[in-house]
Amino acid sequence: MTEQVTRATFDEVMVPNYAPAAMIPVRGEGSRVWDQEGKEYIDFAGGIAVTALGHSHPKLVEVMREQAGKLWHLSNVMTNEPALRLAKKLTQKTFADRVFFANSGAEANEAAFKLARRYAFDNFGPEKNEIIAFYQSFHGRTLFTVSVGGQPKYKEGFEPTPGGIKHCDYNNIEQLKALISDKTCAVVMEPIQGEGGIIPADKEFAKQVRELCDQFNALLVFDEVQSGVGRSGTLYAYEQLGVTPDVLTTAKSLGNGFPVGAMLATDKAAQALGFGTHGSTYGGNPMACSIAEAVIDIVDTPEVLEGVKARHQLFVDGLKAINEKYHVFKDIRGMGLLMGAEVKDELAGHAKDFVAASAEAGLMVLVAGPNVVRFAPSLIIPEEDIKEGLARFEQAVAKVVAN
Ligand SMILES: *Cc1c(COP(=O)(O)O)cnc(C)c1O
Repeated sequence: MTEQVTRATFDEVMVPNYAPAAMIPVRGEGSRVWDQEGKEYIDFAGGIAVTALGHSHPKLVEVMREQAGKLWHLSNVMTNEPALRLAKKLTQKTFADRVFFANSGAEANEAAFKLARRYAFDNFGPEKNEIIAFYQSFHGRTLFTVSVGGQPKYKEGFEPTPGGIKHCDYNNIEQLKALISDKTCAVVMEPIQGEGGIIPADKEFAKQVRELCDQFNALLVFDEVQSGVGRSGTLYAYEQLGVTPDVLTTAKSLGNGFPVGAMLATDKAAQALGFGTHGSTYGGNPMACSIAEAVIDIVDTPEVLEGVKARHQLFVDGLKAINEKYHVFKDIRGMGLLMGAEVKDELAGHAKDFVAASAEAGLMVLVAGPNVVRFAPSLIIPEEDIKEGLARFEQAVAKVVAN
């Protein structure tokens, strides 16, 4: 028998670490989603920057069904065709020579941080173990990834956390110069900070980070869990920065909602994770890899990537027009379809009000910290859904202003 469940059920049976919205979505198609009551929403959130090809994409549904009828799981005692095909594609399309598969962004980062430590240990000795990361950065919720992440609130009460980690202001090269040393094994950065407020790296800063890493024999790790898989307008954002990392992590959009993550690395760096050094039961399973392969095939085409740039402009123009009427945002910024609208100082802390008002108007948007409304829609969201969604967003803004 199927149990009847409502939002109230959450408060009865779930660990209270989330505070989900009042409605429960039950179905999605493209960039539209419907809840239990049949109310329709336009999806400018994409989960949290995950459903890059929208909901129920016919090709992805087909690939998933086909693989589900063949083989779900083998473990890494054996390899499988979808994992090998996906790894080939990812290495052909990026700087990387080798791939490790995981099931989430945090797990991909965990692998990257362990690789960085082990690489330094093998090549330079145990003293070289410091990781430098940036304030406001987000790298996941495991103990190691919250420790590398630059937001103290995620560590609070979970101490003792792993040591050997230092933080630096983003886009501040002088501070990095003061922190980096022969003890540094890696510098970890998001090419555009996502959760931290949609803040792109300056090109000149990124270039100098690369130079400092080379000077001190530290690996440069790019966390592209949010910015990757076409969201920035190129397959990975590093292509636009003109800086190549040694290690890159990718997840979120990679599976369009099916859990999968990957760490990409140069051959030289990858050698640090020799046989037996790291592993995962589910990582690289044929279901996840067949779906991710189809996502990459669809996203890495000129139509989709050029379309991201065109849609970026539609969003920016639309948001600017709304802001000219209501004067609520002091900055509208981002890369591709990862965009943020930062509220004016008078509205500091109130980005979440726009999310609530949008939901009422039939629109899903996100925050990125307390002051930024974030937009991370499907990369192939139809133009009419952008127009309709922006009209709903204008209603939401009007409501926030009226209150
Ligand atoms: C979401 C995110 C993560 C964590 O990914 P999970 O799949 O939630 O573990 C890590 N890094 C960045 C930049 C992210 O945006």
